[in-house]
Amino acid sequence: MPVEKLYRLNTATWTLDYSAATQLQQPGEPFPGWCPCYLLEHPEGLVLVDTGVSHEMAEDPLSYGPQGAPHMVDFVDTLDLSTGKMPTEHLADLGYEPSDVDTIVMSHLHTDHAGNLDAFPEATVVVQKDELRYAFWPDGAQRLFYLEGDFHHLRRLDADVVAVTGEYDVFGDGSIVAFPTPGHSPGHQSVEVRLESGTVILAGDAANSRVGYEQGLVAAFAWSLEESIDSLTAIETRARQADADVIVHHDPEDQGRLPEPPNALH
Ligand SMILES: [Zn+2]
Repeated sequence: MPVEKLYRLNTATWTLDYSAATQLQQPGEPFPGWCPCYLLEHPEGLVLVDTGVSHEMAEDPLSYGPQGAPHMVDFVDTLDLSTGKMPTEHLADLGYEPSDVDTIVMSHLHTDHAGNLDAFPEATVVVQKDELRYAFWPDGAQRLFYLEGDFHHLRRLDADVVAVTGEYDVFGDGSIVAFPTPGHSPGHQSVEVRLESGTVILAGDAANSRVGYEQGLVAAFAWSLEESIDSLTAIETRARQADADVIVHHDPEDQGRLPEPPNALH
């Protein structure tokens, strides 16, 4: 059964240097990236892909989570929260409670994707095992992107986490399939979504801009450049096979091609 509706729900916009988002290109130019998550309505349940930026973190990074996030103080100045809403607010607008969400598929656990995850304590969280482990013990500069405040509750003994290695078909019918696209982070994954009107691949941060996706120029802070390039090839191959439209997560033009809620792709 295909997915009935795909809603794009923006949570905020950040502005990075263009050369950070698209490797070494146009230094000094701003790149305003959207930070959406996606809600998928399927006859067998409601699925979120990512959970966006936490407004709670952005408003007070020093007291966020068990360790606080002092290094985020400067970064949150680049965030514009007025362009988005918390996923719970988006859901309320669409007539849903947080407990209506059955499954959350996480592209990865960077803080602009995993904020607000604890607002859905009853949902099953699907994340690559490599990502889950790395998020708790990242190396060097990669430590900047993972905030324990976003995901520390996943360590609870009663947390409902599916730690995946390889592909994961959410309903077993091919309508929502997460597949590994490592490189941006060790356990990054992208999500193929089959709708009545066609197939969409939510690429996540496999590239951080449309130009980057097309030219193989990934984020300057990618965990592995080599694996990033292999993953771009894997997405292109899959898109060709499924005749899919690829959506680059942070790219303003790609996001602009998706309907504004309450409208959705069908
Ligand atoms: Zn990321």
